[in-house]
Amino acid sequence: MAIKVLYAEEFVLHDPYPHEHIENPERLETVLAVLKEFSGRLDISRPSSPPDLGVFAKAHEQGYVEWLLDKMRRASSVEFIDPDTYISPGTMKAVEALSSSIVEALESIEEASIVILGRPPGHHAGLKGPAMGAPTLGFCVFNTAATLAKLLSGRGRVAVLDFDLHHGNGSQEILWNSSRVYHIDIHQDPSTIYPGTGYPSQIGAYRNMANIVVPPWSGDDIYEEALGEALGIVSGIDPDYLVVSAGFDAYRDEPLTAMNVGSKFYWLLGSALNRAEAKLAIVLEGGYGLGLQNAWKAFISGLLGKEDPIRDTYEISRPQTWEKFRENMEKLREHLGLGKT
Ligand SMILES: [Zn+2]
Repeated sequence: MAIKVLYAEEFVLHDPYPHEHIENPERLETVLAVLKEFSGRLDISRPSSPPDLGVFAKAHEQGYVEWLLDKMRRASSVEFIDPDTYISPGTMKAVEALSSSIVEALESIEEASIVILGRPPGHHAGLKGPAMGAPTLGFCVFNTAATLAKLLSGRGRVAVLDFDLHHGNGSQEILWNSSRVYHIDIHQDPSTIYPGTGYPSQIGAYRNMANIVVPPWSGDDIYEEALGEALGIVSGIDPDYLVVSAGFDAYRDEPLTAMNVGSKFYWLLGSALNRAEAKLAIVLEGGYGLGLQNAWKAFISGLLGKEDPIRDTYEISRPQTWEKFRENMEKLREHLGLGKT
């Protein structure tokens, strides 16, 4: 299937300058530079659909949407709405472009796999702000992936697959009561990192959530196993639509990470999506350093059915780390009623 990459110049107007912040416009320059190497294989276009900020009320409470839009309209300089998360005078334009991308994705997803290269990221934004008791919005304002999932659920069964290093607590909170949307999330043990949620016991109102918890300093072997588990769950759901929250911050050389994951995981994941039967929408979440070069490049290569161009060394996890991972998976099976393996 054709791949349509949606990118608008407005996405770089969400800008922390003069403050230093790892969630900054250069992130998109990095991912676009990688895509240039695939020119001819990818259609990169500006979303042509008109903005519709009303789409965000499909995921968030109306009061939150209005509060945030009001703050964005009034922003004359960079303002931190919590210790992690800023809005800037250009944020309004960026979220308008995100809404255009969502509308266009809904129009195009039957004919093409969609990749939204947008900012700010979204998976920590919950129903009405920080989700599930998290201390902050974690750089996010509106939840693009959950908005897409909610809108697509009117057409069929939807699965959201989130492989960002951090738990997609916003998506989980928003989709908790959605019987037609499943949320499968691979993330670092929440007792060791923000946002502090995403335990195997958190399974949603309809057993529609699966939290695959990887211990800190997991290597390629554990991440490959986690991916197999996640894809097994997705194939059991047999979704009509697959929304992917694509974060590259678990990559081993990333600034926030405590993982030993190399390019193979991202290549395998892209390859699996290349073969997926579900209609596909991929949304950029985190990734702040080399993950946006190497992991992203491996992911896109897999998505295009090509070999892994990075071929990082394959890191094996320690036995104690494996033990913790297996315990987490046993707990998940117990809570989901899947039985032992
Ligand atoms: Zn993250």
